[in-house]
Amino acid sequence: MKAAILRELGGKFIIEDISLAEPIGHEVLIDVKAVGLCHSDLHASRFGFEYVNSLPLLLGHEVAGVVIKVGSDVAEFRAGDPVAVSLIRSCGHCVPCRTGRPYQCKYPDDVLRRPDEPGRIIADGDSITQAFGVGGFAERVLVHENQLAKVPTEVPFPQAAILGCGVITGAGSAINTAKVRPGDTVAVVGLGGVGLNVISGARLAGAGKIIGIDIQPVKFELARRFGATDTVDSRDADAVKTILDLTGGGVDHCFEVIGLSETARLAIDITGVGGGVYIIGVFKPDAQFPIFPPIDMIGSQRKIQGVYMGSTDIKHDIPMYARLYLEGRLNLDDLVSREIRLDEINEAYADLDQGGFARTVITSF
Ligand SMILES: [Zn+2]
Ligand SMILES: [Zn+2]
Repeated sequence: MKAAILRELGGKFIIEDISLAEPIGHEVLIDVKAVGLCHSDLHASRFGFEYVNSLPLLLGHEVAGVVIKVGSDVAEFRAGDPVAVSLIRSCGHCVPCRTGRPYQCKYPDDVLRRPDEPGRIIADGDSITQAFGVGGFAERVLVHENQLAKVPTEVPFPQAAILGCGVITGAGSAINTAKVRPGDTVAVVGLGGVGLNVISGARLAGAGKIIGIDIQPVKFELARRFGATDTVDSRDADAVKTILDLTGGGVDHCFEVIGLSETARLAIDITGVGGGVYIIGVFKPDAQFPIFPPIDMIGSQRKIQGVYMGSTDIKHDIPMYARLYLEGRLNLDDLVSREIRLDEINEAYADLDQGGFARTVITSF
């Protein structure tokens, strides 16, 4: 089967022929119908995350498809089920997993094959790393059932794919992590695919003002379609003052979805007394958090929290978001900006780097 393999950090994806092992135990083999081009994969292709010494690498984690075959211990899924895949790896038996926090699992590697077992990916003489336990830039994936959620057949595959990362990360940050309440004020710094989903989550939670912030005004109209009530160009000299004026001194919840020290600083500056700053953006490995006088922490009573995958329990949240989409209450259609073939991945990532598209999805191989 065809897969887009990365052989050097910062290099291009190369279309190669590989194959997958048969599913064993809790594994599920899936026919990939759609896989999104998430910014985290671009980041990983340059900086490697923990996989820096594990090239060649098969990235891609925002996947939807149809179950082909299941391992002998799988009870939840059967052949023919439409599913969305997530990169959240959870063992299912540690304390965080058993108390509703699988995104804080202590043993995420338990869902991978052990080093003494044959690998899932079979390639000619090469051992290929399956990034995040998924490896979705391929015609098929072989994953642990804990990384899968069922989606209704009525949800188109590109929309279902985005549920697995962009939606749960963005909407979950507002609903699960920040626990936005009706009437709260919210700011979202960065209006890419995840930022738009933060807006969706804030709207579902009943937020009063939702302020979309970016340096590309072309994104403002799209942000309004997702529920932004106001938009601010952060390059304006009086951007901070505008937001403080709009909210009577700062927002209740501010989400940083870019991953830059400057935008983290902005997020802190526009968060009001007792508010929360949520860091979702992926920073470069050598980036530093902006230093500010600690005395300000006491007077402002702000909290700053890192957010991983929208504090999501995929078995509960993905079917919930799918239902909200089918009820017309969650905008997924405007997230899918372009559908491409696997061999167009390099050009599409170059476009994504320019910040031009909400989400590009590979739908043919
Ligand atoms: Zn992602
Ligand atoms: Zn666990």
